[in-house]
Amino acid sequence: MAGWGVHANEAYSDSGGYKVAASYNCAKCPGYCCSYPLIPLKKRDVQRLADHFGLDFEAARKKFTKRDGEEPFAMRRKADPHFGKICRFFDTEKRRCTIYNARPAICRDYPGGGCGYYTFLMSERSSQQDPTHVASTWNV
Ligand code: SF4
Ligand code: SF4
Repeated sequence: MAGWGVHANEAYSDSGGYKVAASYNCAKCPGYCCSYPLIPLKKRDVQRLADHFGLDFEAARKKFTKRDGEEPFAMRRKADPHFGKICRFFDTEKRRCTIYNARPAICRDYPGGGCGYYTFLMSERSSQQDPTHVASTWNV
């Protein structure tokens, strides 16, 4: 997920171990995937955040997550001018993750081999001839 980091994959290996070009570049993206309504953390993700901030597990759980339906550790979110709401750890000016080394497993894995939003973003920037255009969509 976004900036110099969130998912800064320039290439990835397919299941056969071959290097193939990734179809997205998070460094050029305003971080759409960080605005997903539900970012579920595992217990070990909460512990990683606790260690990163020098907190105990319970303090980190309360500060950074909340229960959301069946998910006991859903990432807390905050207001964002482009997408409505976004992960509490996202820098809404620099458009990047502020806890890259301590980010949850789901953020490390996403999006795998391709990103539909990035394709959409590049198409919009091309048609509008504006390399900084942010294709907004509301994720509240
Ligand atoms: S929406 Fe796609 S390109 Fe943008 S930060 Fe997420 S994975 Fe990267
Ligand atoms: S921790 Fe938040 S800001 Fe960082 S990559 Fe994950 S969703 Fe994005």
